Amino acid sequence: MPSRIRELVEQTSFIDTHEHLIEESVRLSGQTGGHLFPCDDWAYLFMHYLGDDLAVSGMPLADQRRFFDPETPSEEKYRLVAPFWKRVRHTGYGQAVRHTLQGLYGIDDLTESTAERLAEAYTATVRLGFYRHILRELANVEVCQVNSLQRIFMKSEQPDLLAQDLSIVALSTGLDLAEVERDCGKTAQTLDEWLEIIDWYFAQYGPLAVAVKNQSAYSRRLNYQRVPQERAEPLFRRLAQGESLNPEEMKTLQDFLFRYCVEKATAYGLPVKLHTGYYAGHDYMPLERLRLNTGDLCPLLTDFPDTRFVLMHIGYPYQEEFIALAKHYRNVYLDMCWAWIINPQAGVRFLKDFLVTAPVNKVFTFGGDYITVETVYGHSCVARQGISQAIIELVQEGWIRQEETAPIIESVMRGNAETVFPAHIRPDR
Ligand SMILES: [Zn+2]
Repeated sequence: MPSRIRELVEQTSFIDTHEHLIEESVRLSGQTGGHLFPCDDWAYLFMHYLGDDLAVSGMPLADQRRFFDPETPSEEKYRLVAPFWKRVRHTGYGQAVRHTLQGLYGIDDLTESTAERLAEAYTATVRLGFYRHILRELANVEVCQVNSLQRIFMKSEQPDLLAQDLSIVALSTGLDLAEVERDCGKTAQTLDEWLEIIDWYFAQYGPLAVAVKNQSAYSRRLNYQRVPQERAEPLFRRLAQGESLNPEEMKTLQDFLFRYCVEKATAYGLPVKLHTGYYAGHDYMPLERLRLNTGDLCPLLTDFPDTRFVLMHIGYPYQEEFIALAKHYRNVYLDMCWAWIINPQAGVRFLKDFLVTAPVNKVFTFGGDYITVETVYGHSCVARQGISQAIIELVQEGWIRQEETAPIIESVMRGNAETVFPAHIRPDR
């Protein structure tokens, strides 16, 4: 029985609901720079998210800088990372990278004797079409939903492979007039003019987008209150004139704009993806704010019954409360993106709990959440291992029957995403 379930999970393709992949042409250009593409060698595979585990394990900042510097020779990179790699190679982030080394390059582990081979294999792999090869052929992913960190909406060169989210951060909760002007050439002095810009983004990209995305949980609570437009108007005008608003005023304006964007997303049939739970990076996470995520969201979930809210990353480490939301609210879906590599065992426990608590159609089980395409493969291996283990254990413990497993696997790996997200994510294969 276990081998039959493992086989089925292996064979079933994922609809990948969350990545931050940069465009393949950027990778092929080799033009490094900035935090999305600091170097074009094997160290790049260790950046996102493993770089945080390396730092937290004790790797000095100066060594991290040398390690991700494109000019540092490969042998020196190995010497810099080796003592810290030993400390993190068993974490979810580490395991995703190890699967990548094995599956993409046939290298069992990073050692002194394999480092040179890895350097060559990394370079040989980066060639035209490598995204499609890694995602479709190796990771068995049909399509990725990408939240671009380069643009508010990225018009991808490969839209059938890299479907795109429309980011509403700069338009609402991370209100940024300068960024929006850089992105689309438009600016506003009044709230009405700003709402016209939001309308323009939705008219332009709503029909192309797969969802809207907001990760303002990194900077604020998720208690988006109802605000009348008359209260938001003078605040926007002052902000546009260069005045700074106090935190309370800023929250009021953000709340209004966020809810406006949720209304637009709903009108365009786009699910609203929200970051919840754990923070990427290190040394700054205010855990007491994260703990409030679920309770903070309830008024919003009640006020927008026709909106499909996708709560990401299982709200780790508060996943049990998120299962309660998905069970209680018709409009809540949970996305395991990133969660498998934050804590693979928590992923297994979560999926087991979820499947015997909430309806099976309300969970998505894979999003690599990566900037680097190579590690999406490694993450997909960790996810498939976890999904198999969760379902095998549920059968062994007598909670579900063997003959019920096939439709569950199909739903959680791809069918649910196919139903909840707009139809144009279906690739023509
Ligand atoms: Zn993400």
